[in-house]
Amino acid sequence: MSGILIDSTRLQTEMDTLAAFSDAPAPAVTRVLFTPVELSARAYIKQLMADAGLTVREDAVGNVFGRWDGDDPALSAAATGSHIDAIPYSGRYDGTVGVLGAIEAVRALRRAGFRPHRPIEVVMFTAEEPTRFGIGCLGSRTLAGRLSPDALTALKDTHGIPFDEVRQSAGYTGDLTAAQLAPGHYYSFVELHIEQGSRLEAAGAPIGIVTAIAAPATLRVVLHGSGGHAGTVLMPERRDALAAAAELILAVERAGRGSDSPDAVATVGLCHVYPGAVNSIASRVTLEIDIRDIDLASRDRMVAQIEAAAADIAAARHIDIERTVLNADRPCYGDAQVLAAIRDAAAETGSTAIELVSRAYHDTLFMAEICPVSMIFVPSQHGYSHRPDEYTSPEDIARGVDVLARTLMRLASS
Ligand SMILES: [Zn+2]
Repeated sequence: MSGILIDSTRLQTEMDTLAAFSDAPAPAVTRVLFTPVELSARAYIKQLMADAGLTVREDAVGNVFGRWDGDDPALSAAATGSHIDAIPYSGRYDGTVGVLGAIEAVRALRRAGFRPHRPIEVVMFTAEEPTRFGIGCLGSRTLAGRLSPDALTALKDTHGIPFDEVRQSAGYTGDLTAAQLAPGHYYSFVELHIEQGSRLEAAGAPIGIVTAIAAPATLRVVLHGSGGHAGTVLMPERRDALAAAAELILAVERAGRGSDSPDAVATVGLCHVYPGAVNSIASRVTLEIDIRDIDLASRDRMVAQIEAAAADIAAARHIDIERTVLNADRPCYGDAQVLAAIRDAAAETGSTAIELVSRAYHDTLFMAEICPVSMIFVPSQHGYSHRPDEYTSPEDIARGVDVLARTLMRLASS
């Protein structure tokens, strides 16, 4: 077997081509699930997979699988992959590096004369971003059995169109129950992704090895007070939903700051005020709260504290509170054997690698329910992500793909 060489020029051309499938003018990228540009981008990825000699299969929710059979096709596959959907006005690297990079890793292994013992599978997940259906990691959640056919059928997009109708008009008409994969379906899963933070840049390390992914919980709290004229309703009579929400926002911050777990974070990122006029008392406020930690007990303690605070505030202010848990997922941890494979691969390329925790959501979180996992991070300039000036240099991408190829080589040989 000759050496593994990554064709960075070709990969960059493919990154350019993929970035052009967008509903926003460059450099911004908008690519939302099952829109015409997203369907064109899918067709492009499937073509690249086929050109790389992969056998392409799709499931009922639009996850795309490209398979390279090993000399024992009965063995479970060493899998890799990521997503190509992009939130409105974001950048061109989030997810795409892990899909195009995986295809280039396969090509590089073929060029080097490598023959896998177990199959290698490249996965392009449907809708990692929650843009259209309000739930992140739709494809990988479905694979892991964390989104049942009934739950999928109940989903509606931002225009109220049911998921079933949307997927069928995109050509995905298969049986939803068949999309779930059994635990052990894969031998391993490794996702190459941009860091979306600045720890690699700060450390001067081009490679990050992900040892854990924080478990996010998302709560929606609707506070119902009593509206009225800001001039005529005197203070003793008020049941101001926004004043109550303000107390709750500070309670969320206290829950995050008060935790003794270093990875604990709690954020209110959304606040809708109704009716929203300067001379009107708010009658209804909707908050969405994001709570994360790699320590599930600590995460759940924060959730409990926030719920207790909400109940206290509601009682004291005579406000009705409606609470919905939008999701509460489990954290995942990098597997020792997969981590060792990445460490060895990084060392072989002579790259400095640091180990870190991912506080962002990734499809890997759900793949961890099926098989041993880890992730490879490459630097994000200034830590920028989900914005048009998101940037990772061609050299850093090529190095990440090199480490991925060598990792897959190890896992597919075992
Ligand atoms: Zn992503």
